[in-house]
Amino acid sequence: MNQYLKAVIVGTGFGGLGQAIQLEKAGIRNYLVLEKADDVGGTWRDNSYPGCECDVEAHLYSLSYEQKADWLRDFATRSEIFTYLSNIADKHRLRSKIRFGVGLTGATWEPDQCRWRLSTTTGEELFCQFLISAVGGLHIPRLPELPGLETFKGQVWHSSQWNHDFDFAGKRVAVIGTGASGIQLVPPIAADAAKLYVFQRTPHWVLPKRNRDVPGWLRALFKHIPGAQRIYRNTIYWRREMRALAFNGRLELWEGPESIAKQHIARHIKDSALREKLTPKYTMGCKRVLFSNDYYPALARDNVELVTDSVADVRADSVVDASGVEREIDAIIYATGFRITDALDYLHIIGTDKRFLAEEWATGGMRAHLGTTVAGFPNMFFLLGPNTAVTHTSVTVMLEAQARYVVNAIKLVDNSGAAALDVRRDVQEEFQTTIQQKLVKGVWTRGGCTNFYHDAAGVNRAIWPGFTWQFWLATRRVRRKDYRLLHRAPQDRRLETI
Ligand code: NAP
Repeated sequence: MNQYLKAVIVGTGFGGLGQAIQLEKAGIRNYLVLEKADDVGGTWRDNSYPGCECDVEAHLYSLSYEQKADWLRDFATRSEIFTYLSNIADKHRLRSKIRFGVGLTGATWEPDQCRWRLSTTTGEELFCQFLISAVGGLHIPRLPELPGLETFKGQVWHSSQWNHDFDFAGKRVAVIGTGASGIQLVPPIAADAAKLYVFQRTPHWVLPKRNRDVPGWLRALFKHIPGAQRIYRNTIYWRREMRALAFNGRLELWEGPESIAKQHIARHIKDSALREKLTPKYTMGCKRVLFSNDYYPALARDNVELVTDSVADVRADSVVDASGVEREIDAIIYATGFRITDALDYLHIIGTDKRFLAEEWATGGMRAHLGTTVAGFPNMFFLLGPNTAVTHTSVTVMLEAQARYVVNAIKLVDNSGAAALDVRRDVQEEFQTTIQQKLVKGVWTRGGCTNFYHDAAGVNRAIWPGFTWQFWLATRRVRRKDYRLLHRAPQDRRLETI
């Protein structure tokens, strides 16, 4: 069955669900959400590794208009966030709008009709006026090729595709990678496995996590006193906005946190050689700042070894490092992160004049006006698109701003009697120039590390360089002059009633 829809959203994480709610609020009901999995939740559905929790306070890492008064801890666990998202889907009756088990595989712009023709994993074809990608940037595992891996007889998996059937008791395990996921999953594995080898390429800065149970009286206050939770949330928000200063150029502000992190290492790691290996040589903030109370204690355990040599060879039941040391293992866990700057390459998106998005971004770099719209791809929106990631605060703030921008863009098209809008290329390029000029001043560029924010050409395609309120202001309204308005060919005007 071919269906013509006003809008299609792809993905049901914070982005997709939040966008669906905003469409509903705007009275736009003829839309569908495609979800390749069998439930909502996005990254919080997929990442079910032990120890998974958020490193941004739950009262901020949530939708501002869907506040939950009874978060159990300051930093919520993965399961509490997953439940929160499920409840939102139920409360807003979104499940009936979601096609579970249907993934988008491609989209082609049909200029005469001013619509997108969508292909899906189930073979079904859909047509829509507006296409909104809410697939996020953290869903395609980055799986570095380990020499000899094909000969390995044990189990291998990525942190975002957890093997829940594996019993760690008595097992020898290698974890590759010590980023945000790695440092969370190492402590529970260390407690269960016979032996754990942690392969670290570059040490990350790790600060203590000031996590605590939210006291009952505070939860009651949030529930019963109007505005109390909003004040609490705003306090967290503005405290975190201050941190943007350090990320965006005031690198001297990292001295204090670096000293706290060094004390954190010293408190838990008594072996000076191990302390040295764990101490980063770059400025904090260059890679994502991590928070954990149990990572260093786990590394100090007798059954855990930090390996700083790379994997040189994988054999049937062992791993040999670059120094020639062989360690017997039963499982390899990739905590090696995600493909970010080519995350959308698997989608076959064809815009005006047969432009192929993946090719355009591969040659010119990922780019979008306000991280949301791309010249030559009319009526298409990218939630958490290029340069909208934030390292100092909650991405949900950015997602809410984008969802509102999308609704305003749809209204602009509808109110102007046009059928589509396409961002002007010069506007998009001017935006690129502005943010790249800001990015070179940031710690991601000047901090002296390599990070996944930069693409193969060395350009930062991930980070929003500034405060989130600046993004909020920039996306507050859709500027008519930034866009070309497109109309349907006369014979296709009948679609205008949709
Ligand atoms: P990540 O931060 O990119 O860390 C990947 C780790 O794997 C790094 O230690 C990296 O080393 C290592 N690695 C990558 N390729 C390697 C190779 N070929 N050989 C050896 N080591 C290799 O990935 P992640 O931990 O999955 O986190 C990704 C993102 O997810 C985070 O930045 C964050 O945005 C999000 N996340 C958030 C939370 C949260 O609490 N909110 C929790 C988990 C994840 P190098 O540093 O040397 O590259």
